[in-house]
Amino acid sequence: MSEQDRGIRRRTVLKGIGLAGLAAAIGPALPPLVRPLLGEEITARVPRRVLGRTGATVPILNFGACRLDAKFDPKIPEALGLGIDYFDTAYVYSNGSHEELLGANLKALSERLPEAQRSKIWITTKANDVSENPAELRRQLETSLQRLQTDYVDLFFLHGLERVEQLSEAAWQEAQALRKEGKFRFFGFSSCFAASPALLERAAQVGWVDAAMVGYNFKMLPPEDDEGKPIELKGEEKAAFERRALTWGDEMQRALDTAHKAGIGLIAMKTQRSVISFGERAAKWEDDKYSKHQAVLKAVWEDERIATICSSMRTLDALRENAAAACDRRRLGAAQWEALERHARACHGQVCDRCDHICGAHLPPDMKVGQVLRCLMYHDAYGDPELARAEFATLPRRAWDAWGVDFTAASRCCPNGVDIGRWMRRAGQVLAC
Ligand code: SF4
Repeated sequence: MSEQDRGIRRRTVLKGIGLAGLAAAIGPALPPLVRPLLGEEITARVPRRVLGRTGATVPILNFGACRLDAKFDPKIPEALGLGIDYFDTAYVYSNGSHEELLGANLKALSERLPEAQRSKIWITTKANDVSENPAELRRQLETSLQRLQTDYVDLFFLHGLERVEQLSEAAWQEAQALRKEGKFRFFGFSSCFAASPALLERAAQVGWVDAAMVGYNFKMLPPEDDEGKPIELKGEEKAAFERRALTWGDEMQRALDTAHKAGIGLIAMKTQRSVISFGERAAKWEDDKYSKHQAVLKAVWEDERIATICSSMRTLDALRENAAAACDRRRLGAAQWEALERHARACHGQVCDRCDHICGAHLPPDMKVGQVLRCLMYHDAYGDPELARAEFATLPRRAWDAWGVDFTAASRCCPNGVDIGRWMRRAGQVLAC
């Protein structure tokens, strides 16, 4: 079936389902791009890659379901129409309400859309830290299955690992029993913290990790020219790249290689970089071909070790914009890499990579700079105060209380030039209420 046929078929399906509200939300035809690529409409479906040893082909853009509309969410059928049939959620997101919403939406759609039948959908969910009590894995997974209205998930993750010991044999033993009962198909972990390289290395050794989701963005990739050859960096750009390599750039590249060679399916997240707050600097993006969101995604897709990117898309426009970037097969040119570098420079001092091991050495032991600034990022950069406050509320006071703390030495050693005290105080002011 040609891509055009697929587009026509999709329009026919939507017409045939007879749901006025759904049709109105999606429209009778595939929508024009928010930021048109050469004035075209999206008529293709998102390409797919193999997710490591799972052998499954998954869309290179997957749907991070941590921001769903209450009741019916038109983004879900829209995503399915674009070939995005992989949904990522977690036990902890909004106290489980997003798993419930995703489950209810998929259930309702499965009765009307062949694309939404359970066997055609990929669902990933994640359990919170179970290192103190591995038996907790069962309770969380069974609760997630109930909320999602399904008997199994395709991929089950240990969520947000921060230490290599959390990827433990004890957790795997518990998981294995659940797998034998058919409650999930594949196993893995997510981590967006500084422990990611070590976790990927360990995952390659243990042999029971099928996939891993890690923070990865364009600043971890060396820029390329129009023919895909590395661009030689000079001056401040070279220094900036080397500063990153000192934190976890090179280490991450080696770990990704090891994991990829071991057959672990690699999923990228946090591809926009963890910019704490854009403010007026957001206007600095300069490229007439792709939006900033599209360019950062395309940069990561150029790394073919990465099977798919998890993107939390709040609106239909964001979904269409990202899908358009996925469907556009061209590589970024030197102009886009330069625009990315300019953007990175404009955000200098406002990016937190959660390398707490660096600044944490100069701060009270329980202070969690990376986690606090992540919450502030949800508030300031994502414009999502509800999510920011919900996440912040899970942190103990000692993780964020900046009262009487001297941040001078911590800020001095931050590779991203973050004025840590300023942002920690702001986090306390806007989120601790
Ligand atoms: S403030 Fe700087 S050193 Fe601390 S976690 Fe963030 S990026 Fe790393």
